[in-house]
Amino acid sequence: DTTPLRRPDWIKVRAPSGETYEWLQSLMRRKALHTVCEEAGCPNMGECWGSGTATFLIMGDICTRSCGFCDIKHGQPQAMDWLEPERVGQAVKAMGLRHAVITSVNRDERKDGGAPIFAMVIRRIRALQPGCSIEVLIPDFKGSPSALDIVMQARPEILNHNVETVPRLFKQVQPQDRYEWSQATLTNAKRMDPEVLTKSGMMVGLGETMDEVKEVMRDLRSWGVDILTIGQYLQPSRQHLAIARYYTLEEFAEIKRYGLEIGFRWVESAPLVRSSYHAAEQVRALSVV
Ligand code: SF4
Ligand code: SF4
Repeated sequence: DTTPLRRPDWIKVRAPSGETYEWLQSLMRRKALHTVCEEAGCPNMGECWGSGTATFLIMGDICTRSCGFCDIKHGQPQAMDWLEPERVGQAVKAMGLRHAVITSVNRDERKDGGAPIFAMVIRRIRALQPGCSIEVLIPDFKGSPSALDIVMQARPEILNHNVETVPRLFKQVQPQDRYEWSQATLTNAKRMDPEVLTKSGMMVGLGETMDEVKEVMRDLRSWGVDILTIGQYLQPSRQHLAIARYYTLEEFAEIKRYGLEIGFRWVESAPLVRSSYHAAEQVRALSVV
């Protein structure tokens, strides 16, 4: 049966609108910047953009990988734009952000995966919007410690890298990724700079079991991860992976309870949680700034 599952009542998506939303949209176009909010059609745009939060997508809007859940375009990468960090800094300042989240497409054609651009973005935000905390949601750089080190040297407040799913489903869900690369990224980040908070996240509803979810959570803790985000996978289009099932609110609550029990310092677990959802609150609560 290929009929899509009916979306349960507890998943309510507010369409983005309003003055702040329109102002942000025109700011991004003027600065020639991309946001993951728009590219991935994030269901929280109404809430986040309405309150002045956005997640920048750097290094173009075409990814060299093609994950089955992801709505970002893939194909031949665009030329690197070394002036992008300056424009991101200017946009963060114009928005008056107190917490900025930066992510990117994968740039597997480059040995450094584009790590130097992340470092430049961090430094430009520091210079142009002092006091703003910075979270980078980075690719795995194929587990390369030297690429990761370039980002860590710039000292973000939060180093985020998502495992996305359980190891058994990597081949189906994100065939060009490896669980060991995620492990290397998160463990090396903690080792290189224990003061930087590490964060990871995954989607549920792709066919994993609750036991497998908990096993990944224990792995993440053993890699020193501080913050966890877990949300329901929503199929961006019929061409994307089907939803295996919707987790109930009770199950999300159970995940949160278990996460805190095994020692995460912060757990966001709810249907519409995305990696950058409530990110500003996390950094304030864990008082790193
Ligand atoms: Fe953008 Fe993240 Fe908010 Fe989604 S949750 S709208 S990606 S800032
Ligand atoms: Fe999307 Fe990231 Fe996968 Fe690229 S690597 S397709 S941006 S999830």
